[in-house]
Amino acid sequence: MPEKCLFCRIVSGDIPADIVSEDEEAIVFRDINPQAPSHLLVIPRRHVGSLDDADEATDLGSLMRLAAEVARDEGIAASGYRVVVNTNENGGQTVHHLHLHILGGRLMTWPPG
Ligand code: 5GP
Ligand code: ZN
Repeated sequence: MPEKCLFCRIVSGDIPADIVSEDEEAIVFRDINPQAPSHLLVIPRRHVGSLDDADEATDLGSLMRLAAEVARDEGIAASGYRVVVNTNENGGQTVHHLHLHILGGRLMTWPPG
Protein backbone atom coordinates (compact mmCIF):
# COMPACT_ATOMS: atom_id res chain seq x y z
CA MET A 1 0.00 0.00 0.00
CA PRO A 2 1.37 3.47 -0.84
CA GLU A 3 2.46 5.76 1.99
CA LYS A 4 -0.38 7.93 3.24
CA CYS A 5 0.15 11.66 2.80
CA LEU A 6 0.19 14.02 5.79
CA PHE A 7 -3.43 15.11 5.42
CA CYS A 8 -4.64 11.53 4.81
CA ARG A 9 -2.99 10.73 8.16
CA ILE A 10 -4.94 13.56 9.78
CA VAL A 11 -8.16 12.18 8.21
CA SER A 12 -7.44 8.71 9.60
CA GLY A 13 -6.48 10.11 13.03
CA ASP A 14 -2.84 8.94 12.89
CA ILE A 15 -1.79 12.56 13.35
CA PRO A 16 -3.77 14.78 15.74
CA ALA A 17 -5.36 18.01 14.52
CA ASP A 18 -7.66 20.64 15.95
CA ILE A 19 -10.75 19.60 13.97
CA VAL A 20 -13.51 22.21 13.95
CA SER A 21 -16.00 20.59 11.58
CA GLU A 22 -16.50 17.41 9.62
CA ASP A 23 -19.03 15.72 7.38
CA GLU A 24 -19.07 12.55 5.31
CA GLU A 25 -16.88 13.99 2.57
CA ALA A 26 -14.62 16.53 4.26
CA ILE A 27 -12.94 17.71 7.45
CA VAL A 28 -11.94 21.19 8.61
CA PHE A 29 -9.08 21.81 11.03
CA ARG A 30 -6.85 24.66 12.21
CA ASP A 31 -3.60 25.30 10.36
CA ILE A 32 -0.59 24.47 12.53
CA ASN A 33 1.17 27.68 11.41
CA PRO A 34 -1.63 30.25 11.20
CA GLN A 35 -1.15 33.22 8.88
CA ALA A 36 -4.17 35.10 10.26
CA PRO A 37 -6.15 35.11 13.56
CA SER A 38 -8.40 32.49 11.95
CA HIS A 39 -6.67 30.05 9.59
CA LEU A 40 -8.61 26.89 8.78
CA LEU A 41 -8.05 24.15 6.21
CA VAL A 42 -10.91 22.38 4.42
CA ILE A 43 -9.90 19.04 2.90
CA PRO A 44 -11.72 16.15 1.22
CA ARG A 45 -11.41 12.87 3.16
CA ARG A 46 -10.49 11.09 -0.05
CA HIS A 47 -6.96 11.77 -1.30
CA VAL A 48 -6.87 14.26 -4.20
CA GLY A 49 -3.39 15.63 -4.87
CA SER A 50 -4.32 19.16 -5.88
CA LEU A 51 -6.99 21.26 -7.57
CA ASP A 52 -5.30 20.20 -10.80
CA ASP A 53 -6.15 16.55 -9.94
CA ALA A 54 -9.80 17.21 -9.02
CA ASP A 55 -12.26 15.31 -11.20
CA GLU A 56 -16.05 14.84 -11.29
CA ALA A 57 -15.81 12.70 -8.14
CA THR A 58 -14.39 15.66 -6.22
CA ASP A 59 -17.31 17.78 -5.04
CA LEU A 60 -15.64 21.18 -5.16
CA GLY A 61 -18.98 22.96 -4.68
CA SER A 62 -19.55 21.17 -1.37
CA LEU A 63 -16.03 22.02 -0.19
CA MET A 64 -16.68 25.70 -0.98
CA ARG A 65 -20.06 25.66 0.77
CA LEU A 66 -18.45 24.02 3.80
CA ALA A 67 -15.79 26.76 3.79
CA ALA A 68 -18.50 29.45 3.86
CA GLU A 69 -20.40 27.64 6.64
CA VAL A 70 -17.28 27.27 8.77
CA ALA A 71 -16.35 30.94 8.21
CA ARG A 72 -19.79 31.93 9.54
CA ASP A 73 -19.40 29.62 12.56
CA GLU A 74 -15.92 31.05 13.16
CA GLY A 75 -17.42 34.55 13.26
CA ILE A 76 -15.34 35.95 10.40
CA ALA A 77 -17.94 36.00 7.62
CA ALA A 78 -19.39 39.47 8.19
CA SER A 79 -15.99 41.16 8.49
CA GLY A 80 -14.68 39.12 5.57
CA TYR A 81 -12.23 36.39 4.80
CA ARG A 82 -10.23 34.84 1.97
CA VAL A 83 -10.33 31.32 0.52
CA VAL A 84 -7.06 30.23 -1.12
CA VAL A 85 -6.17 27.05 -3.00
CA ASN A 86 -2.42 26.94 -3.61
CA THR A 87 -1.85 24.65 -6.58
CA ASN A 88 1.40 22.97 -7.62
CA GLU A 89 4.83 24.56 -7.43
CA ASN A 90 4.23 28.15 -8.56
CA GLY A 91 1.04 28.22 -6.50
CA GLY A 92 3.12 27.54 -3.39
CA GLN A 93 1.52 24.17 -2.59
CA THR A 94 3.56 22.29 0.02
CA VAL A 95 1.11 19.56 1.10
CA HIS A 96 -0.06 17.53 -1.88
CA HIS A 97 -3.60 16.79 -0.72
CA LEU A 98 -6.21 19.27 -1.96
CA HIS A 99 -7.03 21.89 0.68
CA LEU A 100 -8.84 25.22 0.88
CA HIS A 101 -7.28 27.77 3.21
CA ILE A 102 -9.79 30.00 5.00
CA LEU A 103 -8.06 33.11 6.32
CA GLY A 104 -9.81 35.80 8.35
CA GLY A 105 -9.82 38.01 11.40
CA ARG A 106 -7.57 40.63 9.81
CA LEU A 107 -7.51 42.74 6.66
CA MET A 108 -6.08 40.79 3.71
CA THR A 109 -3.88 42.64 1.25
CA TRP A 110 -3.76 42.38 -2.53
CA PRO A 111 -1.85 41.22 -4.50
CA PRO A 112 -0.94 38.13 -2.45
CA GLY A 113 2.75 37.26 -2.17
P1 5GP B 1 0.05 24.76 1.26
O1 5GP B 1 1.36 25.47 1.39
O2 5GP B 1 0.24 23.37 0.70
O3 5GP B 1 -1.00 25.54 0.53
O4 5GP B 1 -0.54 24.65 2.72
C1 5GP B 1 -0.23 23.62 3.60
C2 5GP B 1 -0.62 24.10 4.97
O5 5GP B 1 -0.64 23.01 5.85
C3 5GP B 1 0.34 25.14 5.55
O6 5GP B 1 -0.35 26.35 5.83
C4 5GP B 1 0.88 24.47 6.81
O7 5GP B 1 1.05 25.36 7.88
C5 5GP B 1 -0.18 23.44 7.11
N1 5GP B 1 0.33 22.25 7.79
C6 5GP B 1 1.45 21.56 7.48
N2 5GP B 1 1.59 20.51 8.29
C7 5GP B 1 0.52 20.53 9.13
C8 5GP B 1 0.11 19.68 10.22
O8 5GP B 1 0.75 18.69 10.56
N3 5GP B 1 -1.04 20.03 10.87
C9 5GP B 1 -1.79 21.12 10.51
N4 5GP B 1 -2.89 21.37 11.22
N5 5GP B 1 -1.42 21.94 9.49
C10 5GP B 1 -0.29 21.64 8.82
ZN1 ZN C 1 -3.81 12.60 1.12
